Amino acid sequence: MEQVLEALLEDGIITERDVAKIRKSKKDVSEYLIEEGFFGEASYCDWFSRTFGFDQLSDSEYLDFSLVKIFPKSLILEHKFLPVRYINGELEVASPNPFLIPFRKIQEFCGAVKIRSLVCSPFKIKRTVEQVFKDSQKGGVEELVEYIVSSAIDMKATDIHIFPQGPCVKFRVAGLLQKFMDLSDLSFQLLVNRIKVMSDLDIAERRLPQDGRFSILDHDVRVSVVPTSYGEKVALRILKRDFGFSLQNIGLTDYQINIVRQSISKRSGFIFVVGPTGHGKTTTVYSMLKEIDRERLNTISIEDPIEYTLSGVTQIQVNEDIGLSFAKILRHILRQDPDVIFVGEIRDSETADIALKSALTGHLVLTTIHARDVASGILRLIDLGVSVDIILSTVILGISQRLIRILCDFCNGEGCDYCRYTRFRGFEGVFEIIPFDEDLVSKIKLAARDGNLIESELRKIFKHFGFTLLRDEIMEKVQQKKIRESDVFEIL
Ligand SMILES: [Zn+2]
Repeated sequence: MEQVLEALLEDGIITERDVAKIRKSKKDVSEYLIEEGFFGEASYCDWFSRTFGFDQLSDSEYLDFSLVKIFPKSLILEHKFLPVRYINGELEVASPNPFLIPFRKIQEFCGAVKIRSLVCSPFKIKRTVEQVFKDSQKGGVEELVEYIVSSAIDMKATDIHIFPQGPCVKFRVAGLLQKFMDLSDLSFQLLVNRIKVMSDLDIAERRLPQDGRFSILDHDVRVSVVPTSYGEKVALRILKRDFGFSLQNIGLTDYQINIVRQSISKRSGFIFVVGPTGHGKTTTVYSMLKEIDRERLNTISIEDPIEYTLSGVTQIQVNEDIGLSFAKILRHILRQDPDVIFVGEIRDSETADIALKSALTGHLVLTTIHARDVASGILRLIDLGVSVDIILSTVILGISQRLIRILCDFCNGEGCDYCRYTRFRGFEGVFEIIPFDEDLVSKIKLAARDGNLIESELRKIFKHFGFTLLRDEIMEKVQQKKIRESDVFEIL
């Protein structure tokens, strides 16, 4: 302060009496001078720049808001500085009195960066703080993480991607990525570090992929960090802590719900759900688990990864790295006296073998299989070495499903403001539901030749028994003009 006041006196801008007044006012010198009309905002910066040789931050210059946000609002207001931008390892910081920039405190926040000082009007800082922070916000990286996640939840995004190239944050909304905000290199680095700390990951490890999770705003967030040629890329999957779906709201008809309920009320048997990745298989299984009396039935799940937390279910995470595979866990939990077992996915012979044998010995086993429809799901099990006999004595329900994107009904899929030119407005589930009762099973047994089944023949039998196949369910949506016929091939 002294050196600024001396220079002002020397230049004849103020008198000793003004100095006394300034001291008495306890105001910031720059604010006092501008408010009392000694300077305009721009002429103050001109004078300071000319006198002490600092470059100026002009009022119209672009500011990196993501950079401002990572500093606590209180620190910025107390020390009257503005982080401006971060270029080539150098952080530009502006202040009405650059001699008072709190270098050490800034470096506590963002590591040992080089700092270049600029001069700016004190009101530029006030205006920016008002623009960047809402009243309740405190600033800081923690708040930036919270701001990003809460915005993603508001926008019904399923995933958050933090790209090192750019760098920027994008959300996956209704199946597609859209940019949420740009980041400076520095905010990117601090954001990634903060997320790694929150998910118990090793901050120093930047060469190997890492997985973790953290909880925020009543949601669980699954974290994946992978090294790329530009730096670390972070993907966050937002998981609802309380699984909100039920059989009634995943797109099943009342008729289908009844069939599913009858099957899950049984104490033993094998239930499988098929469909491609990302088409809601797990959601369907959870909706079924939710209807099971988990208070009185020992319910255990083996998952990779655990996508939701569900009360009353003992959930076990597969960890192939340490040899904790589906098959291995499954073998062990059979000694835990389970009633209901959810095997996240069957993709190998060993798991298929144990899962079906468990279903045979008085357990209700639910699982997902990567296959096209119920018929091909059965064939997949045969491919994995399970005998047709065992399959037919255990399977009680097969479900095939797709999540299909429904055309926007305002523009009929032409693109409009309402659908933000995505052409779509959300998703709907389509299901093929096949309950394997005695009649159906004996009919299939007749069709099995030398222990083998033919896919197309299975479909014929299903149809013969009056079940609607997935293809027909999807064609129904074409009839309802919810999807285009040209999209059907892609969906199947
Ligand atoms: Zn539209």
